[in-house]
Amino acid sequence: MTARILVVDDIPANVKLLEARLMAEYYEVLTAADGMTALSICEQTSVDLILLDIMMPGIDGFEVCERLKSNSRTAHIPVVMVTALDQPSDRVRGLKAGADDFLTKPVNDMQLMARVRSLVRFKTLSDELRLRAETARSVGASDLLAPVENGLGEPGLVLLVEPRANARDRITRALSQTAEVTAISDPQAALFDAAEKPYELVIISSLQEDYDPLRLCSQIRSLERTRFIPVLVLAEQGEDELVLRALELGVNDYLLRPLDPNELVARCITQIRRKRYNDQLRESLTMSVEMAVTDPLTGLNNRRYLDTHLQMLFDRSKRRGRPLSVIIADIDHFKAVNDTHGHEGGDDILKDFAQRVRGAVRGADLACRFGGEEFVIVMPDTPDDIAAQVAERLREAVAGQAFRIAATGQDVNITTSIGIASLEAGDSDAAGMLRRADKALYAAKDGGRNRVVSQAA
Ligand code: GH3
Ligand code: MG
Ligand code: MG
Repeated sequence: MTARILVVDDIPANVKLLEARLMAEYYEVLTAADGMTALSICEQTSVDLILLDIMMPGIDGFEVCERLKSNSRTAHIPVVMVTALDQPSDRVRGLKAGADDFLTKPVNDMQLMARVRSLVRFKTLSDELRLRAETARSVGASDLLAPVENGLGEPGLVLLVEPRANARDRITRALSQTAEVTAISDPQAALFDAAEKPYELVIISSLQEDYDPLRLCSQIRSLERTRFIPVLVLAEQGEDELVLRALELGVNDYLLRPLDPNELVARCITQIRRKRYNDQLRESLTMSVEMAVTDPLTGLNNRRYLDTHLQMLFDRSKRRGRPLSVIIADIDHFKAVNDTHGHEGGDDILKDFAQRVRGAVRGADLACRFGGEEFVIVMPDTPDDIAAQVAERLREAVAGQAFRIAATGQDVNITTSIGIASLEAGDSDAAGMLRRADKALYAAKDGGRNRVVSQAA
């Protein structure tokens, strides 16, 4: 995965070193020797990741980070602070300034690649989700994208897989301010638990009894219900091979023992925050997609949805030689209802009408608000005569019981006219079928309303 990385450091030797390592992995590297230059590069070109030194003349790394994160055009670029090993408080300050991760100097090669790879993957995914959520929003969904949040408001839900009791206690204690930790010693039980509960991070110890920790990592990555949970591996000094393989399996980060409690806390916060951000994007995307295909007044599917889905049902029925019917129901003299009871009163009736449509159909049928006071029901595997029974049931459900206007408590009698069409051997597309149903509907209106008409061809 190639990406453009900006390295910011006032000491040329540090820049050269990082540049050489990153270029060896085929990343594209830009460099800056001070904060102002870094900010202007980020404004002018697209940057996927920033490695940011803290101590620099002019504005320091914390301020550069704050400015990047408060500018909507650069807020989404992940920032890795490069901090001195003997300044653990810098990490907390960095996270407060909005940094996404940190590295300690001297920069270890494996750590560098782990952080860079993990953040580039995160950025690629969130760019993609952001783009799709924006598209969905522009086709009619609402504003659902909140800005990135810095702290961890709610404590995180963490699953710790560690067979040794004393290590379990130590880690749980270190994380007590940050997370609610569930500690499990059996890896297989842990996997089941991870699939059941809404964990936001799984910490896996490399020291498992009779169980390959990499196997657990890979299972978590491949199960549908767990694949979006970040995984942090705790390894021993010298277990480089294991860490590298874990990272290849998609593990998000690692820590080496002896654990530095500050670093453990900071890494957990980083992972949980990233997960929350992506969850939020994913959720807003699902919601906007749903909203784009749903009629807000009745909650039925809208015409946009019907147009694509009807053709799919049509093609499938043709392919399988199965029947397919469609019903169009139009409320009679609805304009008069609006004139008498107001538009809101009319809306009450539309909502109730939609309920009665729902009650008349099976689960496999597709009920839509086609527009105004017209509703369409598509019935897979349903021949003309059964469709006529369903239509008759709907007609009775409407005419048989008055509708209530909420604001005034008045009862109104409503009727509906219904047209039916079924798939014919000569049909080449779904639109033709809909047109026949519409013709039948007009015949029902002409015939005196409050009736069902079925049109053969
Ligand atoms: P017909 O029996 O021939 O169908 O007569 P009609 O009055 O129902 O038909 P027409 O198509 O002339 O009028 C439909 C009315 O439905 C006009 C419009 O104001 C009303 N309408 C369309 N959409 C809505 C809506 O979302 N809410 C409300 N309250 N009324 C709507
Ligand atoms: Mg009407
Ligand atoms: Mg109409």
